[in-house]
Amino acid sequence: NLVERNPETLLRISWIGALVASLTWAVLPIVCDTILEEHTTLLLFILSGLAAGAVALGSAHAPTAIAFALPLLTATIVGRVSIGGYESLLFGFVATFLTLMLARSSLIAQRDFCESSSTKHSANALAEALRIANATTEANAAMLQILANHDSLTGLASRGAFAKALETHLTDVNGQSSSLLLLDLDHFKLINDTLGHGAGDGVLVEVASRLRSVLGEEPLAARLGGDEFAILVGERHPPEEVARVLLDAIASPLTIGERSTNIGASIGIACFPEDGHAAEDLMLRADLALYAAKAGGRGRFCRFDASLLNAAKVRRDIELDLPAALMDGSIEVWCQPQIAFSDYSLVGVELLVRWKHERHGWISPPEIVAAALSTNRSEALTLHVVSHACRLLRDLREQGHDAVTVAVNVSPMELGLYPLAERVAERLAVFDVPARSLEIELTEEAAIAGDAAAREISALSSLGVRIAIDDFGAGYSSLASLRTLRIERIKIDRSFVTEMGVREGDRILVQAILGIGQALGLEVVAEGVERAVDVVLLARYGCHVGQGYHFARPMPRPALDAWIAARSAQAPSTAVETMAQAPGQIASRQAS
Ligand code: C2E
Ligand code: CA
Ligand code: CA
Repeated sequence: NLVERNPETLLRISWIGALVASLTWAVLPIVCDTILEEHTTLLLFILSGLAAGAVALGSAHAPTAIAFALPLLTATIVGRVSIGGYESLLFGFVATFLTLMLARSSLIAQRDFCESSSTKHSANALAEALRIANATTEANAAMLQILANHDSLTGLASRGAFAKALETHLTDVNGQSSSLLLLDLDHFKLINDTLGHGAGDGVLVEVASRLRSVLGEEPLAARLGGDEFAILVGERHPPEEVARVLLDAIASPLTIGERSTNIGASIGIACFPEDGHAAEDLMLRADLALYAAKAGGRGRFCRFDASLLNAAKVRRDIELDLPAALMDGSIEVWCQPQIAFSDYSLVGVELLVRWKHERHGWISPPEIVAAALSTNRSEALTLHVVSHACRLLRDLREQGHDAVTVAVNVSPMELGLYPLAERVAERLAVFDVPARSLEIELTEEAAIAGDAAAREISALSSLGVRIAIDDFGAGYSSLASLRTLRIERIKIDRSFVTEMGVREGDRILVQAILGIGQALGLEVVAEGVERAVDVVLLARYGCHVGQGYHFARPMPRPALDAWIAARSAQAPSTAVETMAQAPGQIASRQAS
């Protein structure tokens, strides 16, 4: 115990003890010098042997050995020399020399001992350090393995682990069928943008736990990244059934912090072996099916079929050809009039993009807008339309139609990507038209599209540009959007208006929207007015402006000019009736 606690003290005790023992022995030659004379040889032999033995054995601690040997030998030498004579002197000389040799070898022995034990100690320490380093490396490797195999947020399998598992599964299935489901949350970005990333993470964790509880242990579920999940199910689970159950499970409200919110999902399904044999092919096809599920309105699943491959090819062609089309004028801007019910006068014009692709025919405007967004050409597309709007406004004002507004559609997704308000102000200045004549139509998502979007909208309002909410009632945040944005107009979604004549529910909705508009002092425009009876009903409910095939289809700019000229040549009301009877003659082919 003392060895560990205080080795210095122990050593000190040891050399003091040795000194005392040696001094005791050393008394012998001094007190009885007769002994030296009678038994000189024997005594010297014994004392020198004791001293030499002490030095030889005490190799670890020289002071102890020397403390024992030195007094004893010194006494012996002094005692012998004091007898006198030639022999005694010789003895004294030799014994002194031996004593010095003993002391020296004792010191050397101690140094060697210390060196060897410190080497041993370092070797041990090194071995221990290596052992610890090794254990740490192993632990790190295990951790990396877990991280590589599992998504750290949700604990589901990671993308890499899923890809490996899918490949292994496909080589092992022995002709059994299996299905790959890709699941993507709808509007997840909005949750992140509006409630924060913490809330977004909370949603992902909750969705993962619902997937787990619905699927149980057997099917493999993974988070591929972002808000995308993958599920591999075997033959025993019909994929459509699994998809339905998953969509239901995710659709039930979830609580983040203190808020309750809803989130939907879309699912794409690809099956082995009919849709592909390789993991990569299945992934690609499930992804195409997922895209179709989203394009079909989200909150649904879609099973892959061959037509999706063709659609993807068309999409790619559209994306590739869009830049040139924007430059060479293939992307046209058509105009659809908005009419006041009171006197059937022209009060506004909505601009709509049109593109007849040389191989794929008419491309629908939402496809054009999506292609522009995915190829970073939204700014070019929108400003192309804004320029047309400003030119039309200038021309209308020159003809005395000062009160007519011109509306341009802007996708909420592109708000904040470029300085729209600034660009609009430049165009307005170039054509010298007032901002009040220009209207920007935004769908309700704009209200929750994030801070950058909100800034852009408010910059547009500050310019004086009117903001209208498009497709009102079809989104999911109708009232919130009215509160957040500086809106001047709402456009009732055409799906309610078109069916109004036959569906009571739609009539009630249209009346409710008009009520909201009146309460908030907003102008309400009805879209999709297709029949005379719609006009009668809308007017009765208090709607004063409409747009639709009943009045005119969208038409190219020259046709609009002709349309306006024809109307001014006739009495206003009869002009509208003429147009209403033959709307198809005005526009050539309508984009699908
Ligand atoms: P939207 O803004 O709701 O445009 C009205 C759509 O309804 C147009 O379809 C128009 O042709 C159609 N429509 C007009 N009257 C009637 C009617 O009486 N009955 C029926 N059934 N439909 C009618 P279009 O031109 O195919 O545009 C579809 C959507 O594409 C637009 O919906 C708009 O959201 C988007 N879009 C069109 N042009 C642009 C654009 O320049 N930029 C952006 N961001 N989006 C655009
Ligand atoms: Ca619109
Ligand atoms: Ca609309």
